[in-house]
Amino acid sequence: MFIGIDDTDSPNKYCTTYIATLLVEKFKEMGYNVEMPKLIRMNPTVKYKTRGNGGVSIRIIEDKKLSDNEKREIKDIVIEYVENYADFEYETTNPGIVFLDEENYAKNKDLLNSYYKKVLYDIVSIDYVESILKKINAEYIKYKKGYGIIGALGAISSNPPYTYELLAYRKRENWGKERFVDEKSVFEMDEKTFPFTFNNVDYDEGKSIIAPHTKCPVLYGIRGIDKDILIEAMKMIKSEEIDRYMIFKTNQGTDVHLRYMKIKDIYPNTGVIVYGKVVKEPKNLPGGHVVFRVSDGTGEIDCIAYEPTKKFRNIVRKLIVGDLVGVYGTVREKPFEINIEKLKIIKLAKKYTKDKKCECGGTLKAKGKKGGYKCRKCGKVIKYDEIKLIEVERDITEGFYEVPPSARRHLSKPILLF
Ligand code: ATP
Repeated sequence: MFIGIDDTDSPNKYCTTYIATLLVEKFKEMGYNVEMPKLIRMNPTVKYKTRGNGGVSIRIIEDKKLSDNEKREIKDIVIEYVENYADFEYETTNPGIVFLDEENYAKNKDLLNSYYKKVLYDIVSIDYVESILKKINAEYIKYKKGYGIIGALGAISSNPPYTYELLAYRKRENWGKERFVDEKSVFEMDEKTFPFTFNNVDYDEGKSIIAPHTKCPVLYGIRGIDKDILIEAMKMIKSEEIDRYMIFKTNQGTDVHLRYMKIKDIYPNTGVIVYGKVVKEPKNLPGGHVVFRVSDGTGEIDCIAYEPTKKFRNIVRKLIVGDLVGVYGTVREKPFEINIEKLKIIKLAKKYTKDKKCECGGTLKAKGKKGGYKCRKCGKVIKYDEIKLIEVERDITEGFYEVPPSARRHLSKPILLF
């Protein structure tokens, strides 16, 4: 039996993963065989998300088929926990629960796979998800506007690739108070567990990024590609006392929100990988953002590196017209441009400068397009188009570049994992 839950928390309290953790513990206590819960991130451009647009799902493995009474009991427990740990007062918190039987899951695998893609790439309406839920015979509960059913089904419908995240929770009396997680121990853990954990620290900023800054019950999260190493990593971290922890299977760090698209087909609020040539040189915008334009022959689109991407912008600034690049990112509605997550510099264009040295040793001075260049010393004139060009070395190299961990989306695949 599959259970999906989403949209229970607010910036003020709770966390949907906490409900999942309590439920997994409860069902295990009751003697059920429970699969590792899933924390699934969906389209990061969704506007009404609280933080990282994540939903959770739990699967109770039916070694023997669940009876109707058992199913009812399980559903009642889920409802009770969601009602106890959802911030109903917060305006944009609209919880949703989805229950799906094993048979209906198995029968509708294709539909679920395509729903997963849709919830990653597109903005899904409540009517659309309800039509799918009816088709697959799922039971669902909407609280308030009930938008949570979109992500609840998204979490159930997910499929590989996966990574893992260990979430450690705080003692209840500490919720809302300042967190204590020893930074030094996080750096040490990162070094010792490299390359099996990722996004623990931002070396440029010199800070740990495993602890959230919100009032939620999470103390910290350690992400990794190996689930066993996560417990070892947790043991290395010095922090305030942990209340409990849970390892989730997740689509974080996988780039599943991105796919290759031709520029002419791109639409707003989706994730893309575009290959093209730079057609407009990088320009610095107020606020520290940097924008350039690419063309792939089917159209042109602006690509932007925002201020929080810090040093990454220095790579972007060095691009010139003619460079062949791959741009990974999500497309905003207004302005319609790619918010860059990664940049692949495939082929650098040759860069030239005009040789303004005359044969006589003097300097050639520009006299406009008509006048060409005239030597200040010997008076020799060279036509505008005939001035010698000398190649200058580019100060970037071809390769794959990414924004720093503190500016990275949950879903972005770190280059380390390629
Ligand atoms: P947290 O990270 O703390 O779980 P959140 O960032 O996941 O919070 P939610 O409070 O879950 O934010 O709000 C996101 C809302 O968007 C949910 O109601 C979810 O069902 C919905 N949603 C998820 N994916 C899509 C999508 N592709 N289109 C439309 N709505 C979506």
